[in-house]
Amino acid sequence: MEKIAIQKELIKMFGKDMLLNEELDLMYYSYDSSFLTKLEPASPYAVVFPKSTEDIQKIMQFAYQNNINVIPRGAGTGETGGCVAVEGGIVLDLSKWDEIVEIDAKNMQVIVRPGVIHAKLNEELAKVNLFFPPDPGSSQMCTIGGMVANNASGLRAVKYGCTEQYILGLEVVLANGDVIITGGMKSRAIKNVSGLNLTKLMVGSEGILGVITRIRLRCFPKPRARGIAMAVFDHLDDAPAAVLDVYQAGILPSGIEILDSSAITAVNQFKPHIKLPAAEAILLFEVDGNPPSVEFEGNVIQDVVGKRARSVEWATDPKRMAELWEGRAVTSTVATRVRSDGSRVFAGEDISVPLSRVTEVLRKIKALGEKYNIQVVNYGHIGDGNVHTAPVINPENPEEVERVLKLVDEIHLLAIELEGTTTGEHGVGAVRRRYAALEHGTALDYMRKTKDAFDPKGIMNPGKLI
Ligand SMILES: Cc1cc2nc3c(=O)[nH]c(=O)nc-3n(C[C@H](O)[C@H](O)[C@H](O)COP(=O)(O)OP(=O)(O)OC[C@H]3O[C@@H](n4cnc5c(N)ncnc54)[C@H](O)[C@@H]3O)c2cc1C
Repeated sequence: MEKIAIQKELIKMFGKDMLLNEELDLMYYSYDSSFLTKLEPASPYAVVFPKSTEDIQKIMQFAYQNNINVIPRGAGTGETGGCVAVEGGIVLDLSKWDEIVEIDAKNMQVIVRPGVIHAKLNEELAKVNLFFPPDPGSSQMCTIGGMVANNASGLRAVKYGCTEQYILGLEVVLANGDVIITGGMKSRAIKNVSGLNLTKLMVGSEGILGVITRIRLRCFPKPRARGIAMAVFDHLDDAPAAVLDVYQAGILPSGIEILDSSAITAVNQFKPHIKLPAAEAILLFEVDGNPPSVEFEGNVIQDVVGKRARSVEWATDPKRMAELWEGRAVTSTVATRVRSDGSRVFAGEDISVPLSRVTEVLRKIKALGEKYNIQVVNYGHIGDGNVHTAPVINPENPEEVERVLKLVDEIHLLAIELEGTTTGEHGVGAVRRRYAALEHGTALDYMRKTKDAFDPKGIMNPGKLI
């Protein structure tokens, strides 16, 4: 079916107010936060703003009958081109469908529609002393639907895990318009081993199996206290070793973050008042819980880490904690500052390796940066081996673009070689599917068969994941 005919049919079905079909508007949907879609933007045929399961069913039935691709989209903060119509199609913008249906505090869960913003959900949950622990850096922008589809996580994954650990059940509209409810049709249980686990299958499926329309999430009690330790290291190798020492001392911090010397330089250039000490690495340990346990864990960390670090500062005062955390919080943005005409590009940015290989991977990435003459700023969630590598280039220079693409290819391959993965956080999307066979082998064939079972015509978000 031609693009104009598709637009006319959609206008007939929903009226003009619920969709976009002007070229300029469609252009805004031709990219997400990935470098790939900056280089190769792809406009959809139309954008629809559905606000009910029935709306989505209607669109899917129409698309299924006419073999039209459908691409679910949350806030478009993804780093992999996941929500972009790389092979054409209708984009479903779910960001306006942002209802918190029910906070069921007595059952420690909450039910939401896909467009709810992560930070907003936690604001509401805080009123009843609950929280939804996964905490992406994009918290103020990204949707819960996008988090479920990408199995997002963040700074506190080391203790609290990823989104998948909190999803109790989902409503999903499939490619042919069928609606399924996973995790038990009427269930409010928080423990459930009945049936094949379709909930887990849907989490992290990046929109290729169906459209997530309702999410039942488990909540945790909100910790009453926090403390942060900042440790400064003269030798990079001592930082991962100190992380292991802390684990072996029986402490599981709620966050363990690393900034290497390149990240320290970038932060100091942009925010000189933070005055991070010059060093090969800085680690930030966050612990949370009740006040006496936070104090106890803080003492153990100072003791254990102090044996390897040049200095360790411990803070529980909210103002000082915010100052210490600010250095880490701004890194993603300020990486760009290591070069006056540079931009940080999101490509090859979230590999994950075993803890025992973090030092090796950081050293090898530094060497790759030198090989390609590109500055790479390294930081990330060292507690679970998830390293953010931020190449800084002039994206207007085609020769630099070519070089950075070679660099990030080598970074991805390095991650696999070091017994890690090409993505610990942001997902596969259109960017990393070329590595799927190398990472998964025969399992990839079974992923494809699973996709065929849910979407035999291949209309759900094609060109992604597998
Ligand atoms: C500054 C910044 C910081 C970030 N920090 C982190 C971080 O710390 N941790 C982390 O994990 N990620 C991070 N990200 C990446 C991104 O924010 C997450 O992957 C987030 O979960 C994407 O949510 P979104 O609503 O923007 O989804 P989108 O980008 O719109 O979509 C992402 C994928 O989900 C699919 N999708 C969206 N909604 C649905 C739905 N309802 N049903 C089915 N499929 C759907 C899309 O098709 C696409 O494949 C960061 C991004 C930025 C820009």
